[in-house]
Amino acid sequence: NTPLHELDPAVAAAVDAELHRQQSTLEMIASENFAPVAVMEAQGSVLTNKYAEGYPGRRYYGGCEHVDVVEQIAIDRVKELFGAEHANVQPHSGAQANAAAMFALLKPGDTIMGLNLAHGGHLTHGMKINFSGKLYDVVAYHVGDDGRVDMAEVERLAKESRPKLIVAGWSAYPRQLDFAEFRRIADEVGAYLMVDMAHFAGLVAAGLHPNPVPHAHVVTTTTHKTLGGPRGGVILSTAELAKKINSAVFPGQQGGPLEHVVAAKAVAFKVAASEDFKERQRRTLEGARILAERLVQDDVRAVGVDVLSGGTDVHLVLVDLRDSELDGQQAEDRLHGIGITVNRNAIPNDPRPPMVTSGLRIGTPALATRGFRAEDFAEVADVIAEALKPSYDAEALKARVKALADKHPLYPGLNK
Ligand code: PLP
Repeated sequence: NTPLHELDPAVAAAVDAELHRQQSTLEMIASENFAPVAVMEAQGSVLTNKYAEGYPGRRYYGGCEHVDVVEQIAIDRVKELFGAEHANVQPHSGAQANAAAMFALLKPGDTIMGLNLAHGGHLTHGMKINFSGKLYDVVAYHVGDDGRVDMAEVERLAKESRPKLIVAGWSAYPRQLDFAEFRRIADEVGAYLMVDMAHFAGLVAAGLHPNPVPHAHVVTTTTHKTLGGPRGGVILSTAELAKKINSAVFPGQQGGPLEHVVAAKAVAFKVAASEDFKERQRRTLEGARILAERLVQDDVRAVGVDVLSGGTDVHLVLVDLRDSELDGQQAEDRLHGIGITVNRNAIPNDPRPPMVTSGLRIGTPALATRGFRAEDFAEVADVIAEALKPSYDAEALKARVKALADKHPLYPGLNK
């Protein structure tokens, strides 16, 4: 029972340093969030010790009576949260949820359609060296000049290529998708519709974004982005596909489920059904809107900064640096230097190479969780705008970042 700090000071020091980094900087990576302490408590519990291959009531190991309770709570809560007929809460990650869903519905060599990676899709939606690109024949659709998914192209490509599965979902896209239209097209060509709502699941749970569940055969998600839970994945489906989905996860893809993570997911689903969570998601959206507005003001545009699609309907903004003398890498580094963490991102028709890029993806979920309100988001937007100008004053901006971090303390009880 030796505590971590005594048993392994090297690892403990890195964990402490990471806590300090999270507390003292402003986290604006759109796919990140801060899990509640209760979620981390469940994730750090004795459930990590338990093997539980199978599903509640049908396990291949003894002693599963308590993890059965936990997993059933997680299943019931997530079904209720999103109005789904079936849920599998075992995928270890979003990528594994997508792999299992595809294994359930497809055979190698089948055709799938997904949003092109550089246009905002995820690796698992058909990128060449991902399993999805290797196993399946991929036809990618794109965003048009207005920065929105070109549904006419989706329909044309679907009719030409007759895919078995169409993936609707994204990792870097600032607008809502038309799920009903995707389903109409899928039905027309006899394809399954899979929606990957990893990024916007929290907004859906709060009723602030259309729910894909009534439209899709299968919906996958991560639990750690806007949803604010532990790192992990979930698959929702119709009752008809339940058996196929379950056997694709186990034994198809995984062995023992991570029941400590499943417990943490259950806690996160409880939180996600609360009024506080809704209010937080409202601030998340408001923050992104404020950010988009402030980054297209004349003095910012004058240095070649723009916002893709002209704004946002979700929790992130895609900054277009094609006309800026800063590339994505330099802008990411400059913000890192003043204490704001974002990631560079390739944008459609990016003239710069993928490791450099001409875009930034900036998200508001983690700061909303920290308690940021409209005036704080306005301040952080102005700090970012200043930092992207040639004449920026790093020390002054660092001080403004520090003031915001101090105003909204993170995990105050966790400091040793
Ligand atoms: N799906 C989408 C849309 C994502 O953005 C991501 C992660 O960035 C994933 C799936 C994969 O999730 P994970 O990193 O948990 O495998």
